[in-house]
Amino acid sequence: MKLQNKVVIITGSSRGIGKAVALTFAKEGAKVVVNYNNSKDRAEEVVNAITVMGSESFAVKADVSNEAEVKRMIDETVNRFGTIDILVNNAGIVFDIPFMEKTVDQWQKVLGVNLIGVFLCCKYASPHMNEGSRIINISSTNGIYSMHPESMDYDASKAGVLAITRSLAQELAPKILVNTIAPGWVDTEMNKDLPEDFVKKETDRIFVKRFGQPEEIAKAALFLASEDSSYISGTTIVVDGGYSS
Ligand code: NAD
Repeated sequence: MKLQNKVVIITGSSRGIGKAVALTFAKEGAKVVVNYNNSKDRAEEVVNAITVMGSESFAVKADVSNEAEVKRMIDETVNRFGTIDILVNNAGIVFDIPFMEKTVDQWQKVLGVNLIGVFLCCKYASPHMNEGSRIINISSTNGIYSMHPESMDYDASKAGVLAITRSLAQELAPKILVNTIAPGWVDTEMNKDLPEDFVKKETDRIFVKRFGQPEEIAKAALFLASEDSSYISGTTIVVDGGYSS
């Protein structure tokens, strides 16, 4: 077991990539805090699945863009498990809207969850973390090469996550290793409303000719959470099946 008794918080883990990371880490013996914002029932399902595997888990409601709620999530984790070994900043939102229709409110919501949320979770979790602890931030290839003007606010937030990662890797060194995963297209509910012809065109640009599965992102997260990555900090692992940008 690669994460035996490690205490892990995964934001936005009631579904999609976060859920896959939660289940993958639990299989490796981690104690998992399943954070959700709206979907209590689905978060409880993930907790139950983890409990059935024989690992400990509980669900915490917290909007990662809300400072008081993040503080409470961290307090509840420390009260219950005594420490934090791994933080996975996975929660994220996107609004695909044409440039001229985008509003300040949408921009602020996206930056609030995707960027300030990462800052808040790192700020309140890191004082409770240990020598060799890990922070794994889920960015996106959109943060490396901005691809679609409709998601420019999302792309900016994800580029910001890369910047935060490099800063924090220095700030929290040598105690905590901080890295980013930049997934390309992944088959989750985030992409469920994409037009069929757009999905086909994007699939053609991917070298392996398919969207990734959440479990394939979780495998990269497991690598960054485990001893196997003990000399890696401040960097980004791209998991996109190869993509011609
Ligand atoms: P998803 O929409 O299924 O999952 C996002 C999760 O974040 C959901 O559980 C949602 O409830 C949660 N969330 C949203 N706002 C929150 C808030 N304020 N507080 C706490 N939780 C909140 O999508 P996903 O594809 O699983 O995305 C997970 C991460 O991966 C996101 O950061 C996303 O930007 C990133 N990503 C996804 C893709 C993709 O193609 N699916 C590609 C690159 C990066």
